[in-house]
Amino acid sequence: MKYPFLQLKDVNAPYIEEIKQAVCRVIDSGQYIGGTEVELLEQNIASLCRVPHVVPVSNGLDALRLIIRAYKEMGIMADGDEIIVPANTYIASILAITDNNLSPALVDVDPSTMNLDPSLIEEALTPRTRAIMTVHLYGRVAWNRDIIDIARRHNLRIIEDNAQAIGAKSRVPGLSGTDMTGGLGDAAAISFYPTKNIGAMGDAGAITTHDPQLAATARALANYGSDTRYHNIYAGLNCRLDPIQAAILNVKLPHVHEENGQRFDRVRCYANEINNPSVTTPTISPYLYDNVWHQYVITSPMRDALQKHLADNGVATDIHYPTPAHLQPCYRKLSHGPLPVTERLARQCLSLPVTTTTSIRQVAEIAAIINTFDPQS
Ligand SMILES: *Cc1c(COP(=O)(O)O)cnc(C)c1O
Repeated sequence: MKYPFLQLKDVNAPYIEEIKQAVCRVIDSGQYIGGTEVELLEQNIASLCRVPHVVPVSNGLDALRLIIRAYKEMGIMADGDEIIVPANTYIASILAITDNNLSPALVDVDPSTMNLDPSLIEEALTPRTRAIMTVHLYGRVAWNRDIIDIARRHNLRIIEDNAQAIGAKSRVPGLSGTDMTGGLGDAAAISFYPTKNIGAMGDAGAITTHDPQLAATARALANYGSDTRYHNIYAGLNCRLDPIQAAILNVKLPHVHEENGQRFDRVRCYANEINNPSVTTPTISPYLYDNVWHQYVITSPMRDALQKHLADNGVATDIHYPTPAHLQPCYRKLSHGPLPVTERLARQCLSLPVTTTTSIRQVAEIAAIINTFDPQS
């Protein structure tokens, strides 16, 4: 393809010498679990997300699983309780709930944000609802007064799935006054999966929170349920972060705003240049920081033909996500109401290349190719 969707090696190229040195430092240190790089990453994430507590973990799904598991150990959630979650999300959000024997209450999304539609939350509440999981999907902050008010009124925890929006800032402050994603709700999960805005070279993730008890519980759970060595208060897991990944992330994390800004430059170019009436482009908020554009997702009723037209012209695209969780074989038995927006998005959405390795000139060329798409032909 002349225009690749994403080339991870090129994304990491600007940092590669520093990364190699950092990895060698870990190798030479002889400390292969925990240690200074993991502690440094904890501090770096804490200052980015403006939270007092960070628990580095193995990946984003484990971060979400551990948050819910910690709430269970704390007596705040129990088997069979329910968590409100947008149906339009990566399946990991929902796996974290079902893995803990809780039920996902799938709520449809607002077509203009593709994120949780707050007007649909209340009708999904039951006496067993314990939390709202808000997912900042595609990098767009999903945080507003409605979510806060509903959570307060019904005594619900708010869990952020911040896998796709590291470094984003909300217009509406969070529960503890912080405006950065990861610090808005009661607890949040970050993913450093290699394709995320800040990616490791393997799996990595973190929990961010203002709640010291949640942090301590999750930290113990991630380390066999052990608070001090050979003393197990919980029947825990091993979900620790690899220090080699921590060292790589300590090189990349300081560049998060720069990286996000470069994505936004590409988004602005698409927004200015795409003018095909059969294509809907995402709304751009006048507020600069409330979307870090993990994906630039357009929609078209002729999505498959458009994707083919782009491929025929050398443009690689992707679909996030072709099959919503509730239509996956593993969730055949999951009960849910109608989810028309999520299902339409699955048929119509198309993600365009938006990473730093696609130049602005290439973005303009891709937009021009989109403009030559004729839905009748
Ligand atoms: C990537 C992702 C996750 C899971 O993170 P991993 O590090 O891949 O386990 C969870 N939720 C969303 C929305 C994601 O995009």
